[in-house]
Amino acid sequence: MPVTAPRVIFLGGLGRSGTTLLERLLGALPAVAPLGEVVHLWARGVLADEPCGCGEAFGGCPFWREVGERAFGGWPAPLARRMLGLRHRVDRTRRIPFVGHPSLEEYVAGYRRVYTAAAEIAGARVVVDSSKHASLAFCLLSGGVDVHVVHVVRDPRAVAHAWRKTVERPEDGRPMTRWGPLRTCLHWTAQNLALDAYTGPVTRVRYEDLLADPRATLSRLAASLGLEASLGFLSGSTAWLGPAHTVSGNRLRFAVGPVELSRDDAWHDALPRAQQTLVAGLTWPLMVRYGYRGAAA
Ligand SMILES: [Zn+2]
Repeated sequence: MPVTAPRVIFLGGLGRSGTTLLERLLGALPAVAPLGEVVHLWARGVLADEPCGCGEAFGGCPFWREVGERAFGGWPAPLARRMLGLRHRVDRTRRIPFVGHPSLEEYVAGYRRVYTAAAEIAGARVVVDSSKHASLAFCLLSGGVDVHVVHVVRDPRAVAHAWRKTVERPEDGRPMTRWGPLRTCLHWTAQNLALDAYTGPVTRVRYEDLLADPRATLSRLAASLGLEASLGFLSGSTAWLGPAHTVSGNRLRFAVGPVELSRDDAWHDALPRAQQTLVAGLTWPLMVRYGYRGAAA
């Protein structure tokens, strides 16, 4: 039986571009339920029992327990393994031009059930999925989900710096994946080109604009998404955040209370000049397209 899915706001872009921050801010708007990176729900939530954004283990979080009950009668491990197998076959960046895979319907149905149950339990009209990967957005769109992509871009030199740094996973303290600038450029270009080719509704947001004027940027974004722009949680450059039941994402997903919204421009000094030049040289057509020019961007 097909179920009616809520509207999905899908945050797309390369990691370390500010998607977790934007999800927390959108999640503070009325009737919006932020779910985190749902693409990682199956491995990191169901199978590894990593913490929800509320601090409870996934299996101990009342919200996700109820979502699982309503969507699937629980969270059986074989379901998670099945979804991971389907993801491997269906949901790959290189498969985007061939998204009509025979297993697409089953794969998308898993997400639709999660979104629908989560919206009902949260009392929300809209859910936010910050999975980031363009390929999942294409799968959802092709599978008939009402999905509006918010394409988050950030200066590739800042992104390259962020991927060079040693960062611990908040879930288990292990170091997160690190990439050199060349690899970051390839992924930054691939994800952004794919999101530029997205054929459903899409709104682009630059990380730098969000941090320069959170109120104006969120107002504009809310208008384009058809959301009520109640921004009482913003006071100057401070956002007051409540707990959110999000699976996966950076450590900001656990933040509760006042969060300072300040733009991280450490790359100006910390990314060696030669690497800044390399990154700008490799990504300049898209940098120009997104309005990044010169070292002061
Ligand atoms: Zn939770």
